[in-house]
Amino acid sequence: MSENISVLGLGLMGSALAGALLAAGHRVTVWNRTPAKADPLVARGATLAATPAEAVAASPLVIACLLDYASVREVLDGVPLRGRVLANLTTGRPSEARESASWAIEQGAEYLDGGIMAVPQMIAGPGALILYSGERAAFDRHEQALAALAEPRYVGEDPGMAPLLDLAMLTGMYGQFVGALEALALVRSAKFPLTEFTTDLLVPWLNAMATLQPAWAQALEAGDHRTEVSNLEVNRAGMENLERAFTEQGVRLDLLLPVKALIERRVAKGLGHEGLSGLVLELED
Ligand code: NDP
Repeated sequence: MSENISVLGLGLMGSALAGALLAAGHRVTVWNRTPAKADPLVARGATLAATPAEAVAASPLVIACLLDYASVREVLDGVPLRGRVLANLTTGRPSEARESASWAIEQGAEYLDGGIMAVPQMIAGPGALILYSGERAAFDRHEQALAALAEPRYVGEDPGMAPLLDLAMLTGMYGQFVGALEALALVRSAKFPLTEFTTDLLVPWLNAMATLQPAWAQALEAGDHRTEVSNLEVNRAGMENLERAFTEQGVRLDLLLPVKALIERRVAKGLGHEGLSGLVLELED
């Protein structure tokens, strides 16, 4: 069903979102601080609003995708929001999302916060996911329209939950990147072909190892960190072996040394029989 939807912010991501809504047949009103960025969307049928207030007045659902939360507040300052659903897809911290929600609700709006797990080129395509948190009724009412952007996944009433899970997913990603960069340094030291290493060996290995992660979640939920996979003592010895091998090859293990130290700390507490999941508790100390 075609809806009126407004998009504030036509940077790389906002333009991709507005384009996806047009492609899905919605009536799209757009606003951007630099109006010329709206030209390609207007050529495809979007209406250009002269002000943020005009854009907000045009649609029950208002999507904001600006640089940061400060710019969202600046743009919406003094704009009547009563009766609107503000879906803020700008990246930020959970505390900022909660503050924005309180502010929007005070203005008479319903609030959804969103975490976009995609780059602009992935919007409306396979693998794109957007996490939403905030008012369930507002999500349910607009879920179908939001599905034009990416798979919409509602993760809870706390508006801070979508940005928190967004950050958690980025954290997992950076951890994987760090391991791959260390691995490439070691492989380069031996002059093995790097593309062959990443494509044929590393990527399938990382995919296989990723299947261990749900067991860590179960161990944490059960409070039982015993393992039949590989315990911390084995991993401590493994890390020592890694550090020595790296040194012998003339490369540094800098990016993984904090993990080695964490394992050693837990083993020193007499918990060497536990699995890796127990390391999470060390981070909470
Ligand atoms: P761009 O830099 O391409 O666009 C930034 C947008 O914010 C532009 O519309 C810009 O307006 C606007 N803007 C900046 N400051 C202000 C201000 N003070 N007042 C009004 N408008 C302002 O960034 P993206 O589109 O890539 O990113 C937008 C959001 O989407 C960010 O929060 C980003 O983290 C998030 N995101 C982006 C992803 C990506 O891969 N690009 C992935 C996931 C999330 P103007 O055109 O006038 O400069």
